[in-house]
Amino acid sequence: MTVENLVIIGSGPAGMAAAIYAGRANLSPVVLTGAMVGGQPAITNEIENFPGFPDGITGAELVERVHRQAERFGARMVYDEAIEVNLRVRPFWIKTYGAEYYAKAVIVASGASPRKLGVPGEVEFTGHGVSYCGTCDGFFFRGKEVVVVGGGDSALEEALFLTRYATRVRIIHRRDQLRASYILQERARRNEKIEFIWNSVVTEIHGPQEVTAVTLRNVVTGEISRLPTDGVFIFIGHTPNSEIFRGQLDMDENGYIITDKRTRTNIPGVFAAGEVADPIFRQNITSAGEGARAAIEATRWLAELEASMPAVVEDKAIQQ
Ligand code: NAP
Repeated sequence: MTVENLVIIGSGPAGMAAAIYAGRANLSPVVLTGAMVGGQPAITNEIENFPGFPDGITGAELVERVHRQAERFGARMVYDEAIEVNLRVRPFWIKTYGAEYYAKAVIVASGASPRKLGVPGEVEFTGHGVSYCGTCDGFFFRGKEVVVVGGGDSALEEALFLTRYATRVRIIHRRDQLRASYILQERARRNEKIEFIWNSVVTEIHGPQEVTAVTLRNVVTGEISRLPTDGVFIFIGHTPNSEIFRGQLDMDENGYIITDKRTRTNIPGVFAAGEVADPIFRQNITSAGEGARAAIEATRWLAELEASMPAVVEDKAIQQ
């Protein structure tokens, strides 16, 4: 049985910053990338607010650079996904589709996934006109009309990106005020291809084979209407990818892992960083910062462990 010093679950900004720091601390960390290699930046077109890139950088390039940087310091990338864990035993046990890992310390940086609307037609037409990623799917809507659901930064940023391809982008928002930052609001309002449909929610998505229309309900007047469209892009926030840790790591009511200021979870030796533990800031830069902190903490914790006891013990008291 090989026992790794540190397994990092996730390869977004938090996981990769942790990998760089842990690599430089000589821990040879294993990074389980998850299904979405690079995390959310990998499906972001342009990142304008990451310090050090005054002209912006594409998400794909940032991911490629950060992965190269982590590997330079000895991080080992495993293109697989953690599907089960046991954090009640030492060493910690992590199962992926292809292997099992044992680790003295773990950093959970599994990020978050797009939240679903939960309306009829959403599941059936995903990949047939329903999408959660403009950067990935925008090209398929060249010369077509699309709707974007949501009023936050993601919705506006993606709506702006979609105007490269679509002839018209209608943003459907459940209120009459946007949550998005001022700079994105201004850009969207100035863009001739973008229209806003205020105080409205999508209640159904229609086919039959591909998306052809949505049903809207005006939340103020109660009026129901049908809007023809070729695509529905949904950006209504995220839910943390924390399901496999349920019952082991403490979480809040929305599934965000609870940590202290030092990224420590309720289990000594297990740290959490990035969006899986952050319902508030959720930025590339804040996630990267937390990843660095988690790696520094893990390094300290491993040094203390080394000094105090053997690394591999069966802890009967915490096994039940
Ligand atoms: P968000 O800020 O939570 O916004 C979600 C939007 O979806 C809100 O406008 C919300 O409406 C709406 N919404 C939520 N549930 C809904 C439902 N069931 N039906 C209809 N509408 C619903 O999420 P986000 O835009 O994905 O952003 C996440 C985080 O990433 C934020 O912190 C954001 O600042 C950050 N981010 C930053 C950038 C950037 O800096 N360039 C880009 C992308 C994301 P209400 O407004 O009424 O709540």
